[in-house]
Parts: sequence; structure tokens; C-alpha cells
Amino acid sequence: MSELSAVSPVVIASPHPRGLRTLFFTEMWERFSYYGMRALLVLFMVRQTAAGGMGLSDEVATAIYGLYTAGVYLMALPGGWLADRIWGAQRTVWYGGIIIALGHFTLAVPWTQTFYLGLVLVVVGSGILKPNMSALVGELYPEGGARRDAGFTIFYMGVNLGAALGPLVCCYLAQRLGWHWGFAAAGVGMVLGLGQFRWTRHLLGNIGAAPPPLQRVGRVGIGVVAATVAVVAAVSGLCLAGMIVIYPPAVARFASLGIVLIAVVYFTHVFFLLGLDRVEQRRVLLILVLFLAAALFWAGFEQAGSSFNLFAERHTERAIGSTGLLIPAGWFQSLGAVFVIALAPVMAALWVALACGKWYFSIPMKFGFGLLFLALGFGVMAAAAGVAATGSQVLPVWLVATYLIHTIGELCLSPVGLSAVTKLAPRKLIGQMMGLWFLASALGNLLAGLLAGALTSDGIQHWSAMYLKIAALPVAAGLLLMVFSRQLRDLAPDVR
Ligand code: GLN
Repeated sequence: MSELSAVSPVVIASPHPRGLRTLFFTEMWERFSYYGMRALLVLFMVRQTAAGGMGLSDEVATAIYGLYTAGVYLMALPGGWLADRIWGAQRTVWYGGIIIALGHFTLAVPWTQTFYLGLVLVVVGSGILKPNMSALVGELYPEGGARRDAGFTIFYMGVNLGAALGPLVCCYLAQRLGWHWGFAAAGVGMVLGLGQFRWTRHLLGNIGAAPPPLQRVGRVGIGVVAATVAVVAAVSGLCLAGMIVIYPPAVARFASLGIVLIAVVYFTHVFFLLGLDRVEQRRVLLILVLFLAAALFWAGFEQAGSSFNLFAERHTERAIGSTGLLIPAGWFQSLGAVFVIALAPVMAALWVALACGKWYFSIPMKFGFGLLFLALGFGVMAAAAGVAATGSQVLPVWLVATYLIHTIGELCLSPVGLSAVTKLAPRKLIGQMMGLWFLASALGNLLAGLLAGALTSDGIQHWSAMYLKIAALPVAAGLLLMVFSRQLRDLAPDVR
């Protein structure tokens, strides 16, 4: 058994390199800040200005949310490149963390201009930190195999520990003291992450140190990167100053086409122009199928921070008995992460037990399960939205059930995909293929924002039918993956 979620609990418990501790806590704090702030984002944007929000429409707010979350994952491509060619992963993580912290503190300043600047900073910082954290985990285990998978499983727990705590702390502070305290708390989390990274960095030894001079990029490369950054910064600056007026939903639609184009160009380039042999080409083909399935999965799953978040705030009963206390809407965002922590070891044991009983499930089959669970969750939400459409508040159990089902889907797909990519990628392209895996998240997040915009602008009466429509696509894709799983598995028969 070698997929991440199929790691035996015994391997998880065996000793691991000490550097894993450094990476676990750095990632935990970074995800604390990312998910903590993200849980506030849409709610803050749609709240009226009189109540301290920005007073944006649902459609505009969810589009900005989609662009922001997509940007974070899109930046993973240049982020991986910076580490490979200029700074090495360790230094890139450090710079990324500093930029993230600055971004959150900028968001804590209550001005519109600083809001957008803060978002841009978090996008840049997270993008250059995130892929390199995963790359460093991989490098801790040069021997690969089940121990590396176990290392990734532990690391994924760190991700979700942060993702569980962030919304709890940030949303509590936002509700009690004001939005900007919530944003500031995200910044404090990142500073704690940076402090512990600095403190325990020596445990990483030489891994992810600066690349050897031969591999480093020349002056022309640095010039091209600097020019690109300057153009992006200038355009962002003009938008911030109000000199370029943009309509976020239109930009989001344009950006999703852009991401598709990047993926097409990139896959074509890798497939035809890099001199891959037949075995490698077949593996890249399988990565392409997984990429498409993952993008579709995230497009549905990432309703969490947008339309599910709004559903929690507007249509879910959040009062605690007659105490007068109200559960902050963003707290529901922690549920998925809590379920991951609880279920990851159970799923790991389950895959192993099933495989021992000759029920071995291939990677495409597990992706198929992931998509079907996603669709099932939307079935539950369609029923909940149906009840809400009658004008009554629904019980929290609907959202709890949805997040539980979606988390089972996530565990069938996300860690499995992460590990599969490191095994299927041609050796010399692992970093870039990792960036490509996160590109699927970028596309998914952007589509999720657009979907949420279409959904919420229609009014709650239409949500139920829309959620059912959204469910249809993953059902079709999941079944296709299952029906053709044998053929897909044969693209890389020795990778399990
Ligand atoms: N939840 C995971 C994380 O935050 C995976 C997210 C993704 O790839 N879209 O790292």
C-alpha cells in the first residue's frame, strides 16, 4: 500500500526525521492564518458598511473570494520556481511567511485600499510558501516509500489542525471585538509560525538549501521575473488607486480561462517537448486525468468558504438555547478540518484492511469515490436549502452532515492525489508537477467563486435546484472514473 491515506498507523507512529516537527508547526500556523482569515472574508465583504463591512453584493464578494483563493494556489507555480532556481525552499518559505504576516496586518487596517493590498500580499506570500513546504516534506524522506507517505499524512494533520483553530479564534475575535481584530489574529498566527520556523530551522539541516550555482537562473531570468512582478504590482496599484475600474466577476471569468490555457500549454509542453519516454508520457496522461478530476472536486468543495458560509450566517439556527449566545457563522468552517483529523487515521486503516481482504482500490477509483461523496454532500445541501426556502432557519445538523460527507470525499482524493503526483511525475519535473497539482486547486477555487456568485444572486428559492445541478457533474465524472478505472490504472501499472 502506498497512497497517503493508505498508510498503516504503525508506519505513522514510527520515528520520523526531526525536521518534520519544524514543517508541521510552520504549516499549522500558516494554515491557521489562511483559513482563519478566509472564514471571515466573504462575511466581511457582504456586511453593510454601517455594520463595519464593505457592503458588496454577493456576486462581487464571491468573485473576489474566488480570485483570491485561486491566486494563492496559482502563485504556487512561480513559488516552486523561485525555490528551485534562486533561493532554495527554506529561504523561500521564510520570505513567503514574512509577506503573509504583512498581508494580514495590512488587512487589519480598516481602509478599502489596504484591504486589497493585504489580499495581494497574502496571495503572493502563500503562493511562494505553500508548494515549498510540501517539497521540503518530500525531501525529508529521500528513500520515498511508505515512510514518506506517512510523513505527508502527519503533515496533512498539521494543515488541518491550523485550519480547525484559525476560524475558531479569528471569527470569535471578529464577532466580539470587530472584523479587524480577526484579521490581526491571523497575522499574529503567522508571526508565531515564523518564530518557530526560525527557532527550529536547524532541524532541517541542508535540505532545501540554495540551489547549486549551475542550476541557478541567470541575469536574464531574474530580469524577466522582476519585470513581471513590476507589471503585476503596477496594475494592482492602478486598480487600488481606482484608476483602473474592474468588475471582479468578469475578471474571475477571464482568469479561469487563463488558468485553463496555462494548464493546456503546460501539459502540451511537458508531453511533447521534454523528450519523455513512453512510460513517462503515459504517467503524465494519468496526471492530466487526476488534474481534471481534482479541479472539478475543488470547484464544489470550496463552496465551504463562500455559499456554505453565507448559508450558515443567513439560514442556519445559530442561537445556543435561550442563552442569547450566537455561534459565529465562520465556526462551521472548522468542521471539515476537525473531521479530517478524526477520520484520516480511520480511513488509513480502512484502505489497508480492505486491501488485505483483496479489495484494493486504484488511484482513479478513489478519485471516483471522492467525487461521488462530493455529490452526496450537495444532495444534503439541496435538501437543507429546500427547507430554508420555506422561510425557516434550518438546524446546524445539515451543515455538519455536509461537511462530514465532503471530508470523506476530500480524504479519498486530496492526500491520495498529493502522493500520486510525487510518484507519477517524471523525476526531473516533480516540483513543477506539484505546482500543477495546486493549479487544479486554483481553477477549482475560481470556479467555486463563480458558482457561488451565480447561486447567491438568485435568492434562496433557487439554491436547492442549483445545488442539485452542481451535484450532477461530479456524479457523471465519478462514474466515468470508476468505469474506466482499469484502463486508467494501466497507464501506470506499477504505481499504486
Ligand atoms: N486542505 C488542504 C490544504 O489547505 C488542501 C487544499 C487544496 O489543495 N485545495 O492544504
